Amino acid sequence: MGDFTIKIDMDACTGCGECYNNCGFDVYDEPEGGKANIVDEDACTGCRSCESQCPEEAIEIIEND
Ligand code: SF4
Ligand code: SF4
Repeated sequence: MGDFTIKIDMDACTGCGECYNNCGFDVYDEPEGGKANIVDEDACTGCRSCESQCPEEAIEIIEND
């Protein structure tokens, strides 16, 4: 497991791609099927850029124990 878990409310997610556009660590790929697409959660550094930029406030970054 990586240091962080990315929790996304997929009901709220509109697939806008802002998480993909704002993550500098290639955690996301382009949205698929109209939803956010996490491809490498282990690469997350916990910068919270995606969390703060998501227009739907659908992302929660959780630090793992
Ligand atoms: S920024 Fe938010 S609404 Fe947009 S694709 Fe990512 S999780 Fe979904
Ligand atoms: S918290 Fe930072 S590193 Fe982690 S997925 Fe979001 S933008 Fe990428």
